[in-house]
Amino acid sequence: MEETKVLTQRIRPDRSPVWIDDYMDLGGYEALKTALADYGPTEVGPLIKEAGLRGRGGAGFPTGVKWSFMPRFEDRPDERPAHVYLVVNADEMEPGTFKDRLIMEGDPHQLIEGMIIASYAIGADTAYVFLRGEYTECRRRLQQAIDEAHEKGFLGENILDSGFSLNLHLHMSAGRYICGEESALLSALEGRRAVPRHKPPFPAASGLFGQPTTVNNVETICNVPHIVKNGAEWYKSLGLNKDGGTKLFGASGHVAKPGLAEFPLGVKLGDVLEHFGGIRNGRKLKGLLPGGGSTPFLTPDHLDTPMDYDGVGAVGSRLGTATMIVFDDQTPIVGVLKNLEHFYAQESCGWCTPCRDGLPWVEKMLVNLEAGKGQPGDIELLDLHVKLLGPGKTFCAHAPGAMGPLEAGLKYYRDELSALIPDDASNLSRTQAANA
Ligand code: NAD
Repeated sequence: MEETKVLTQRIRPDRSPVWIDDYMDLGGYEALKTALADYGPTEVGPLIKEAGLRGRGGAGFPTGVKWSFMPRFEDRPDERPAHVYLVVNADEMEPGTFKDRLIMEGDPHQLIEGMIIASYAIGADTAYVFLRGEYTECRRRLQQAIDEAHEKGFLGENILDSGFSLNLHLHMSAGRYICGEESALLSALEGRRAVPRHKPPFPAASGLFGQPTTVNNVETICNVPHIVKNGAEWYKSLGLNKDGGTKLFGASGHVAKPGLAEFPLGVKLGDVLEHFGGIRNGRKLKGLLPGGGSTPFLTPDHLDTPMDYDGVGAVGSRLGTATMIVFDDQTPIVGVLKNLEHFYAQESCGWCTPCRDGLPWVEKMLVNLEAGKGQPGDIELLDLHVKLLGPGKTFCAHAPGAMGPLEAGLKYYRDELSALIPDDASNLSRTQAANA
């Protein structure tokens, strides 16, 4: 299937960055000029809402709706706080996810232009890119792009004589997964321990340093210049179903040609897999995590699933970051689950008990199962943990996210997991109980 290149249209095969002169030759910063000249500050948000752009960080929350939560001060300038913030979440640490890295390294100005327009739309005077600590090449390229944008008058005071001013800063993350959870991210940006905050209040009401803040993902923001340039109807028409636009899809694991590609939202799962060369070495698909490590498994029965937010949701999973991790039919599922839960246990911030203590417990049970030391009742105990660590039981979405693939693993591969418990384990546990 042919790609539909919108966000990746300027990405070069060798991934060398498109600097500002080339970016402008290819139509870059035209959308910013249009936004500042043709739209009032309160008119860009409704356009994005009309286009149906949904957050590409994983949750799919409607971007224009999120922007509409920002307080406006046009009619009451005396009440305007010292700062209003846009924070771009570039702390890309979801297992299997590497989509934002591609667009930041290959086309850094697309993100900068999107951030300037988004800041104008939400009334922000200060913007941050909160960047994954290991993304050192992104850091170098983004900083150069920020400097170039300053030199051309696209950043700083009175941008293009519009009266709108914006300072844009790059901030490196401390290297923990939880720093990407938006409220923990805000704590980290403030220089405090990166633990999630209670929501509500959501960032629009009380965000960075307690001020009105919008947090958006890199890919989300990169859509903004294209929508401003081409309109909401064009954007909606790109999607194959209800959700508008294109999406970066990725594949890692047992596919023949791992990588990234851009397709309309709603593309069939089977077509995406085919683009990545199908399962390598002529093997068969056992299952995949469609949108990073925290999204529940899909199986060969799901190849006709439309890859958009509602389509993947309808079959019990989530689109997430749309960067799939693929497993062939020779993969022991217990090893997959053990590795995932090891990651989530290690990355728990330790704030709330179910997550801090429950995740290592789950990991330990999977380690035992894999080593042939499982006990009767372990599968049911894992079922119970799925509930105990599920949505609503913990302070943030970390542990519920970790339970997504475990719950689906217990559903689709239950017999395989049960078969790992040795036949003589019931005798063993009785002996142990008698000796206790
Ligand atoms: P969420 O659904 O709680 O929130 C998503 C966004 O919508 C947030 O910005 C939140 O503030 C906003 N929101 C939600 N309800 C709102 C309301 N009632 N009013 C105002 N704003 C509201 O999800 P989340 O915990 O922020 O993110 C979970 C997702 O992140 C998962 O899908 C996961 O796959 C993904 N994720 C991605 C990465 C990555 O590297 N890209 C890493 C970890 C997790």
